[in-house]
Amino acid sequence: MGFTPDQKSAEPTVSLTPSQFQEMMAAFAKTIVSEMKKPSEEEQATLDNDKALRERRRSEMIIIAKEEEEMKKRTQAACEHKKPNGQYAIGGQVFSDGIERHFCLRCQKVVYSGAPAVASMAGGLGGVTESFV
Ligand SMILES: [Zn+2]
Repeated sequence: MGFTPDQKSAEPTVSLTPSQFQEMMAAFAKTIVSEMKKPSEEEQATLDNDKALRERRRSEMIIIAKEEEEMKKRTQAACEHKKPNGQYAIGGQVFSDGIERHFCLRCQKVVYSGAPAVASMAGGLGGVTESFV
């Protein structure tokens, strides 16, 4: 009967202290993680594609923003800054940056921005200030 009790016992053994073992495992884990992080060729292509897509989307956003800005300008140019009852639709307030701004409540055009003294001169914050239009 050619029964060998334990084949492995013939191999040389390695003994590690617990801290050496821990070090080895940490290095092993590090290698695994960095290998996992590396994108494959296919993943890299997807990433590149995403990047191109993001860039295209970004330039589209800029164009849209410009168009919106143009439209806002046209709306503001056409706006009489008045309510249907004929009164000016201008509201004003001092913002947290200390600047007082008066703007049209219909088209958001800022008709005044500057020192906060003007609101009191014009009859109070939030008052209708047609002199700015
Ligand atoms: Zn307006």
